Amino acid sequence: MAKTPAPAQPYRVLARKYRPTDFTGLIGQEALVRTLSSAFATGRIAHAFMLTGVRVVGKTTTARIIARALNCIGADGKGAAPTIQPCGVCEPCTSISESRNVDVQEMDAASRTGIDDIREIIEGVRYAPIAARYKVYIIDEVHMLSKQAFNGLLKTLEEPPPHVKFVFATTEIRKVPVTVLSRCQRFDLRRIDSAELAAYLAVLADKENVKIEEGALALIARAAEGSARDSLSLLDQAIAHGEGETITADTVRLMLGLADRGRVLDIFEKLMGGNLAEALGDLGGLYDAGADPLAVVQDLLETTHFLTRVKVAPAAQGFFDGGSGEAKRAADLAAKLSVASLTRAWQILLKGLFEVRDATRPISACEMVLIRLAHAAELPPTDKLVKDFLDGGAVPAPRGGAAAPSGRPVPSGPSGAAMPARAPMPEGAPSASIRNLEDIIALAAANNAPILRVALENYIHLVHLEPGRIEFRPHARAPRTLAGDLQQKLRDWTGERWAVSIASTGGAPTLAEQKQSAKTARFEAVAQDPLVRAVLDRFPGAEIVAVRDTIAPDVAAPMPESDSES
Ligand SMILES: [Zn+2]
Repeated sequence: MAKTPAPAQPYRVLARKYRPTDFTGLIGQEALVRTLSSAFATGRIAHAFMLTGVRVVGKTTTARIIARALNCIGADGKGAAPTIQPCGVCEPCTSISESRNVDVQEMDAASRTGIDDIREIIEGVRYAPIAARYKVYIIDEVHMLSKQAFNGLLKTLEEPPPHVKFVFATTEIRKVPVTVLSRCQRFDLRRIDSAELAAYLAVLADKENVKIEEGALALIARAAEGSARDSLSLLDQAIAHGEGETITADTVRLMLGLADRGRVLDIFEKLMGGNLAEALGDLGGLYDAGADPLAVVQDLLETTHFLTRVKVAPAAQGFFDGGSGEAKRAADLAAKLSVASLTRAWQILLKGLFEVRDATRPISACEMVLIRLAHAAELPPTDKLVKDFLDGGAVPAPRGGAAAPSGRPVPSGPSGAAMPARAPMPEGAPSASIRNLEDIIALAAANNAPILRVALENYIHLVHLEPGRIEFRPHARAPRTLAGDLQQKLRDWTGERWAVSIASTGGAPTLAEQKQSAKTARFEAVAQDPLVRAVLDRFPGAEIVAVRDTIAPDVAAPMPESDSES
């Protein structure tokens, strides 16, 4: 980003500036474009389209582009038929992209699920469009419609008037009745893979005169999980963090709260080797550098998952970039570990994730998790213990003098192949357990939603939070979709509906702001300590660079309890 933006050109957030307005701007959806092109060319255009795919693939954007393609009259106003290349400048094109075309109606079925809502549409279908070529009804999250509403819709779909088109979008195609599905042309929008996304971002950064390392782009692309829009909003945040300098991978890592993956792998390797003191030292280093203890545990979980997958399928891709030095190191480490011990590590870390989330001092809880993990690494694998027990053999006491696990059945861990890619919240996560913003952030971390996590930390001035209801004032830089995204995610994660409302004033400082002032206060408190003051007085120019609490390894050595109880 140039330090001095051109005058009279207010900064436009990238996600808005580069929102695709025609099919050429839709990256990664070539199949859809091909099919639509030939349908338009032959004049055989379906009456209804069904766009499906995960939340982030740009279904609504695509739906609007289809509406424009159907109604574009060309720059000269003489276009007589739908075109796969909407001009973007004619009245229908501009009014549709600004959501003010009377003949193109958008409806979110998530909030309007009833037959009355659909009846409005069914009534309207009978009348010819006012100005456009086609009346287009875009119905988002169509699977949320009630059964009655679907039945009402079905009659219209069976005999649609020639001037009406439907564009449905859904994240859950299986919940759409087959009777409806069979009357639609279906398009499966795919996630854009991270290499493709990184390449796209590189071109765009170049256009915007933004200097950014390739590694930083890769991190952004991976965190965006196949969503072009999310990747653009992350790039925007990185530009803000970068303050005009070249944006490095470290900047992005810090922004996403990701610990350096190589260092996380170091910690894991040391723990599995029983080298606890060094592992705790490394953790302290990461913490001082700004890593969030919860994110460290999450990264250790990802590491465990990656190593297990490498054991099952050596070519596995994922947490560590294929071909990188870290991927090679991870593969070497995986070869030394058994699936059983990796499964046990997974269980300890998963349990630890919640302890760290709920702890008043997350770093202490994180250290305890590491201590437990190192200790468990020294135990013989549980499956061997169980086998020995069943065989009537002696159960060896683990080192450190802890009691041997009893002979009760050990829950069989997930097999390497079937292990979920994300750490699911056990037993669901009823919203009653959500007491504060940190709980929601922990949910986001556990469900691998780094973008929302960053937004929750930086952009929310919390006004009120109770189970099922949250009210906040969005920070000036907050993405417009924040409230909607949050509502959707909370529903996904808690299985309950949440009321998310926006306040225009008030609210607490954001968590990022709170963290910053807590850090300042801590440094100030330490500076008041007589001993520290004496040092500072004695050595002019000395400054406090870090304040750390640590658990000395020798205190932690005798393990109070066995790990096998989880
Ligand atoms: Zn046009």
